[in-house]
Amino acid sequence: MTDPIELLHRVFGFPGFRPGQEEIVRSVLDGRNTLAIMPTGGGKSLCFQLPALCRDGVTVVISPLIALMRDQVRALRAAGVEAGALTSGNTEAETEEVFQAIDDGRLKLLYMAPERLASSATSQLLRRAKCNLIAVDEAHCVSQWGHDFRPDYLRIGELRRQLQVPLAAFTATADEETRAEIVTRLFDGTAPETFLRGFDRPNIHLAFEVKNKPREQILRFAAARKGQSGIVYCAARARTEVLAQALRAAGHPACHYHGGMEADDRREVESRFQREDGLIVVATVAFGMGIDKPDIRWVAHSDLPKSIEAYYQEIGRSGRDGAPAETLTLYGPEDIRFRRMQIDEGLAPADRKFADHSRLNGLLGLAEATKCRRQTLLRYFGETSEACGNCDLCDAPPTLFNATEAVRKALSAILRTGESYGAGHLIDILVGRPTQKIRDRGHDYLPTFGVGRELSVAAWGAVFRQMMGHDLVRPDPEKFGALVMTDAARPILRGEKEITLRRDTISAASSSVAIKTLVSEDDAPLLSALKAKRRALAEAATVPAYVVFADRTLIEMAELKPSTLDDMAQITGVGAKKLEIYGLEFLSVINGVADPMHPVRMKLAGQQAGDVFDRLAEVTQSLYRGDDGTGKPMSLSPTVLKRIAERRPTTLSDLDRVANLGPAKIERFGTAFLNVLTSG
Ligand code: ADP
Ligand code: ZN
Repeated sequence: MTDPIELLHRVFGFPGFRPGQEEIVRSVLDGRNTLAIMPTGGGKSLCFQLPALCRDGVTVVISPLIALMRDQVRALRAAGVEAGALTSGNTEAETEEVFQAIDDGRLKLLYMAPERLASSATSQLLRRAKCNLIAVDEAHCVSQWGHDFRPDYLRIGELRRQLQVPLAAFTATADEETRAEIVTRLFDGTAPETFLRGFDRPNIHLAFEVKNKPREQILRFAAARKGQSGIVYCAARARTEVLAQALRAAGHPACHYHGGMEADDRREVESRFQREDGLIVVATVAFGMGIDKPDIRWVAHSDLPKSIEAYYQEIGRSGRDGAPAETLTLYGPEDIRFRRMQIDEGLAPADRKFADHSRLNGLLGLAEATKCRRQTLLRYFGETSEACGNCDLCDAPPTLFNATEAVRKALSAILRTGESYGAGHLIDILVGRPTQKIRDRGHDYLPTFGVGRELSVAAWGAVFRQMMGHDLVRPDPEKFGALVMTDAARPILRGEKEITLRRDTISAASSSVAIKTLVSEDDAPLLSALKAKRRALAEAATVPAYVVFADRTLIEMAELKPSTLDDMAQITGVGAKKLEIYGLEFLSVINGVADPMHPVRMKLAGQQAGDVFDRLAEVTQSLYRGDDGTGKPMSLSPTVLKRIAERRPTTLSDLDRVANLGPAKIERFGTAFLNVLTSG
């Protein structure tokens, strides 16, 4: 069995495992049934790809989406791995090639759509191919209760019984019911080795803003990230078209996407997004399942999502490659009203509605958080953490005030007017504005009239919004959105509990846009040049840009500026195969024009032997005409030097045996070589 760490370096070019990966790889390598639950972007694929390469025979990978399978196969091939897919999207030649690779015993990974499992030929094929491991991607597709149920996934359990090989299942869906269903359906109810990786995605920056001219807010956010791939989520289909239009008018490549579009048009957008670098898609939540793009640099919500789970999943589509990604979620009282109404007017039974309201509350609590957002988010998922330093509240802590008095005044205004009015009218009462409506209803005679003059109308607006956010008051669906008090407010009203709120969080929109780049200003031009090179190579090979190199790899190149292939080999994501095909191209971007390296020497790039090779070559050159420069010209071929550098003989006789030098060359180079070989 090959050493997984060595393959991790050589094939994938990664310096180490991501958190959680190593244990999973071990378990799969040891042939144990394994269930791994990892957040999107956690690096699930590696957990079956690496064991597949270490083990003999073929690993079959069941995955639900053809386009994604094809991309994974492309990415693996680009890294020099023998992988193939059998899908309905194959050309005959492609299928033929896969069969050939199986017959030659070359194939390591065979991707397969679940539909294939319906055919009895499949298990025969897999047996013939010496399939020794089944990997199931998106394993939650076996769950009949989930959104992504795929009936053919139910056949996987049968396949496992037929082949009698271990099975490794992967998913990002962590809830108990789904997990239990996976165990029943894929593992016949015998608990597999289970790994649950935490929820944190530290590279994703979290931010919320109170809605205030949302279109401008989104345009400003996009302008600061020009040229980066992003998604804008909207709550309504019509808004996606309008916003995409506005983005195009501002000079961004952008298109819209929603569930009401023709299937063909939707696929077109999906594949453009997958392939094009820097496209923005403005979409409803229908956009998601079909995308598997690791280099989405930002996600913005122009409307509040429906729950904290939905929020987490949607922002989680960004930054899967581990490079920095940014998010912005807009929200306001109207969003809260809309989401509450959606739940109340839905057809779900009462307990389900109750649960949906609490999930929405989770998100509103996050929106109105007073401290680190990530802490608040992770706490919701049951994890504790330190303040993160990568969210808007860590960047600029908000001004807080004890709002107990203000909230009690507001509650009192609500109760004294029979829970029949919206925030606007209630604020008029509190600040003592004698409008027509106030006088008509005699509200200027209430004891609460004018008791809130210490706060401005805008500040009261913020208090009411936060009261909705903390679920102290809710819009009454029966009374056109009049606010009613909830039980959560009683302790505050009775003086048993205090509450802290933020000062108004509507920040004056600054007109200047601070451009956010992924690297320092000095390195930005180099990064663009590297991206241009990547685009050209990707287009020539008709693969998505990230198949050539991930963003993070280019960022590292721009920052570290490797000047030799050895340095280049140290960059994350540069494995042996990619070094060979792309190394010089990217070096020449970094260094102007790079020295071509001898192909024999290139094989040692990034290894210690490469260093030794260089020193041996130096010695050889300096002794070309002997110590005193008068001897007979003598040199050694790179192949010989490579052999010496790799075997590292330590005596003259070893040296002679390893390199077959003969007495004359031993005399000329022997001692000097041993000096190199035995030093350091
Ligand atoms: P998911 O868990 O969502 O399926 P992927 O397997 O697509 O995630 O991995 C996400 C990204 O992380 C990919 O770009 C992959 O190349 C990268 N990645 C995975 N493992 C590592 C690692 N050990 N070091 C660096 N990058 C990694
Ligand atoms: Zn934080």
